[in-house]
Amino acid sequence: MRPTKIQLDKKAKTLNVVWTDGNEQITSWKVLRERCPCATCRDEREKALDAPMSSLDIFTLKPMTSDDLNHIELVGNYAARLIWGDGHKSGIYGWQLLREFQDIEE
Ligand SMILES: [Zn+2]
Repeated sequence: MRPTKIQLDKKAKTLNVVWTDGNEQITSWKVLRERCPCATCRDEREKALDAPMSSLDIFTLKPMTSDDLNHIELVGNYAARLIWGDGHKSGIYGWQLLREFQDIEE
């Protein structure tokens, strides 16, 4: 499964993907950023899960999802790199991962 079309909707702040099976997926930037698959973000999420409740509160208050999604780059024919307004761009979203986001409610 791969996208036939990827579109960045800067007004709605969503990433819109049409898949080879005709499925149309709309995923919010918030969901994408919160699930960034890069090592740094994965580490931060794990730390947050291990932390005592008070630190967890602080973590979830961090405005990590307020950044704009500026640009998408294709990585070969298997993934997309998302480039965020704060310069973060190490997250490479494979098609399979991206497709999993379609069932996530914001
Ligand atoms: Zn990341």
